[in-house]
Parts: sequence; C-alpha cells; structure tokens
Amino acid sequence: MNLDRFAHGLPDDQEAPVLAYCAGCGGEIYPGEIICQMDQGELLHWEGRCLVSYFRPLTVWAEEVIETQKRDQTPTSQGDGRDE
Ligand SMILES: [Zn+2]
Repeated sequence: MNLDRFAHGLPDDQEAPVLAYCAGCGGEIYPGEIICQMDQGELLHWEGRCLVSYFRPLTVWAEEVIETQKRDQTPTSQGDGRDE
C-alpha cells in the first residue's frame, strides 16, 4: 500500500504544535480542530464533554426547577426573602 500521498498531510499527534489547552478537559488543542472561544478568551474543544466540564451545569429535576421559578416569581406579601 502506497502512503506517499499522506506524506504532506497534517503532522501526526506527536509533531503537531499545541496551540492552546482546553479549558474544559485540559487537553491539548491542535491546528485543524474546531474549538469554541468563550467570552473570557478561554478555548474549548467543540465537544459535549468539554463544554459540560467547563460550564458544570447543575443537574436537577425539571419539576423542582419549575416549582422554584413559580415561587420566585410570586410576589411575597411578607417579603422576608430569607429562605436560604
Ligand atoms: Zn477538551
């Protein structure tokens, strides 16, 4: 099998220059990769696991969120607001 046509392609992982490090997984970012640029300038791989580890979303039950939002939007006549 003749692989000459790959001789001038992208360098392999060992030789590719590391441009930056992912703010999500901490992994290396290489040329040719699709990445996300955050407001603060952080760079992330365009991968779900990197985005999730960067944003660390709080996972909750849907009904709990809805109940909390309802409670927050309800005008409180007493207004002590010291639940937490
Ligand atoms: Zn990453």
